[in-house]
Amino acid sequence: MRGLTFGFILATGLGLLHGVNGHGRCHVENRDFDFIIVGGGTAGLAVATQLSRALPYECVLVIEAGPDGRDEPKIYVPGLRGSTLGGVYDWVLPTVPQAAANGRTIPHNRGKVLGGTSALNLLVWNRATVKEFDAWEELGNPGWGWKNMYPAMLKAENFQRQDGIAQYGNDGVGYGGPVQVSLVENPPAHVQACIPTLGNLGLENNLESLNGHSIGAEYQPAMHRVSNHTRSYSVDYLPRAGDNLVIMFNSTVHKVNLDYDWRGTKATGVTLVGGKEIKAKKEVILSGGSLLSPKILELSGIGQKAVLSKAGIRQIVDLPGVGENLQDHLRIQTSYELKPEIPGLDVLKYNTTRAAIELDLWRRSQTSLYQYSGSCYGFLKWKQAIGNDEKLLRLAHQSVDWSNPVDRKKLSLLTDAYSGAPDLEVVFGDGYIGTKGYPAKGTPGHGKNYATLLGGVQHPFSRGSVHINGPDPATKPIIDPKYLGTAFDLEATIQAAKYLRKMATTAPFKDLWVSEFDPGLSVETDAEWETYVRNNVFTFFHPLGTCAMLPKKNGGVVDPELRVYGVQSLRVVDASVIPMIVSAHIQTAIYGIAERAATIITDQYRW
Ligand SMILES: Cc1cc2nc3c(=O)[nH]c(=O)nc-3n(C[C@H](O)[C@H](O)[C@H](O)COP(=O)(O)OP(=O)(O)OC[C@H]3O[C@@H](n4cnc5c(N)ncnc54)[C@H](O)[C@@H]3O)c2cc1C
Repeated sequence: MRGLTFGFILATGLGLLHGVNGHGRCHVENRDFDFIIVGGGTAGLAVATQLSRALPYECVLVIEAGPDGRDEPKIYVPGLRGSTLGGVYDWVLPTVPQAAANGRTIPHNRGKVLGGTSALNLLVWNRATVKEFDAWEELGNPGWGWKNMYPAMLKAENFQRQDGIAQYGNDGVGYGGPVQVSLVENPPAHVQACIPTLGNLGLENNLESLNGHSIGAEYQPAMHRVSNHTRSYSVDYLPRAGDNLVIMFNSTVHKVNLDYDWRGTKATGVTLVGGKEIKAKKEVILSGGSLLSPKILELSGIGQKAVLSKAGIRQIVDLPGVGENLQDHLRIQTSYELKPEIPGLDVLKYNTTRAAIELDLWRRSQTSLYQYSGSCYGFLKWKQAIGNDEKLLRLAHQSVDWSNPVDRKKLSLLTDAYSGAPDLEVVFGDGYIGTKGYPAKGTPGHGKNYATLLGGVQHPFSRGSVHINGPDPATKPIIDPKYLGTAFDLEATIQAAKYLRKMATTAPFKDLWVSEFDPGLSVETDAEWETYVRNNVFTFFHPLGTCAMLPKKNGGVVDPELRVYGVQSLRVVDASVIPMIVSAHIQTAIYGIAERAATIITDQYRW
C-alpha cells in the first residue's frame, strides 16, 4: 500500500460508507422507524447491524450524538491511540471528588463519535472467566452464563494469525466476525520481558487465555487489522448491515417518549435535543453506555423518586436501581526510566522528527512504531501474588454488603481458591502512563523512555452511582464511583502496587531500567504506599452496572431480556446492564451482550 492516502486505506479497511443515510423506505428524514437505537457506540452498532440483517423489512435508526470519525487518523492509527482522550470525540465525564483518593476528581473518557468508546479505547481484546459469567446467570439471569455468552462473544471477532508469532494457541478465539483481532508483532523489549519475569514469579505462560481460563502470563490480542495496521472497532459491523439501517449523526437524544395510563407505560419514540420527535413503532433501545444511559432514563422520568424530584423531573416509572450499582476496576501504576540503550515508545512524544518519520513509515505500510498496539498481561489469584492472603480475605468479609447478592457473589469468587476467576491483573505497559503525565519539556524526566507497570483490582466492593444533575440534557451527570471506598479496596490496591515493585525488581525486567520514576524507591513502608495509592489510584475505564440486569428487588433495571422494568418497548443494551464486574477489559463482554440482545429481540419479532 506504499504511497496510499489515509482516506484510501480507510475505505479499503472499513468498507464503503454504508447505508448511513438509508434509501427507499428507510431514510434519515423519516419521522418513524421500527427500532430506534440511541447511541452508535460499541454495543449500539453491533445490535443495530444484527437487527437490520435479521429483520430486513424493518427500518432501524441509530442516533449518535457525535460525528462519523471514520476518516480520523487519531482513531484509526493504532499508535495514536490515547491521543483522542479529552478532545472533540470525547464526552469527558469527570467524577465528583473522591474522598478516599484525597479528594481527587478522576476523568472518565467516553467516545462521542461513531463507534463510541471502541473508537477511543486502548485496543485490548481479552476475556473474563467461566465462573464469572456463570455468576451473572446465578444472580437471576437465565441464559447469561458462559455457555451462552462465550459463543455470543466469539461471533463478534475474527482472529487473524500472523506468521512467525507463536504467542497464542488455538482455543478461545473466534473467526469470521466483524472485529479484526490479532497479536501484534515486534513488542518492545520491556514488554518482551513480561512472560519470563512473571514466570520467575511462578506464573505460567497461558497460551489460550481467552477460553474462559485466563490465569497466567499472556500476550493479549488487540483489535488490530493486520492487512493495513488500523484499529478495528464496532464500525466494522456496518459493512454487514442491511440498507434498512440508517445513522443520524451529531444528534443527541434528550429523552424517551412515554405513553402512560392506568394500564401501564410504553416507549413510543424519542425526543432529540432541540425538540424533534421520532417515533419507534416497535422498540427504543438505549445504548448510550454506563455513564449516559441512566441519564436518558432519568430525563425521561424513569428512576428514583428522590433523584428525579431534586432534578425537577416528574417521575413516571419508579425504578430505584437506575444509576446505582456503579462498579469499576481500580488501577494503580509504577513507572521506570529505561536504560538509554533500551528503545521505547515515548520517543514519539518527545522527538517530533522521529514521530513524523514513523508516521510516514506507517502511511507507506512499512514497519513503524505507530503499528504497535499490543500488550502483555498477568492474571492472578491473591495467593499467587502475595502468598498469605488472610488479611485481604478478612477485609473482604468486612467490606461486603451482606444484603447485596452481587457483593456475596464477588466474595465467593474471591474466597474460592479454585474459582479460576483472577483477583489481580498486571500489565506491562509501553511508555509512560502514570497519573502525572509524561514529563514536561524542560524537566529532568523529559526526553527519556519509560515502562509502566499497571495493577488492576478485579472485584472491588465499592459501589457508586451516576445520576442527572438537573433537567438540562447538556449538563454532565454526577458520577461517584466511591473509589477505595472499602477497607478491602484500599488494601488490595496497596498490595497490587507492592506486587508491581516486586515485578520490577525481578529479572529480566529488573535489568532494563535505571530508576523508578513513580513512586520512587524511597516509598517502602505501608503508610507510604497508602499515601501513594490514595494520590494515584486511577480507573481502567470500565464503569458498568448502572442499569443492571438483576431482579428488580435486588436493584435491577432490566430483566434477562434486557427490557426496562415497568416500561413496554424499551430495552438497554450496553455495559450498563452488566450486573457484576468481571476480571477482564470489558469490550468482549459488551459485544457478547449486543449479540445476545440481537438474538433475543429478533426471536420476538421474526415470524
Ligand atoms: C480510555 C479508554 C480505554 C479503554 N480501553 C479498553 C481496552 O483496551 N479494552 C477493552 O476491552 N475496553 C476498554 N475500554 C472500555 C470499553 O471501550 C468500553 O467499556 C466500551 O467501549 C463501552 O461500550 P458501550 O457500548 O457500553 O458504550 P459506548 O461505546 O461508549 O457507546 C455509547 C454511545 O452512545 C452515544 N450517546 C450517549 N448518549 C447519547 C445521547 N443522549 N444521544 C445520542 N447518542 C448518545 C455516545 O456518543 C456513544 O457513541 C476503554 C475505555 C476507555 C475510556
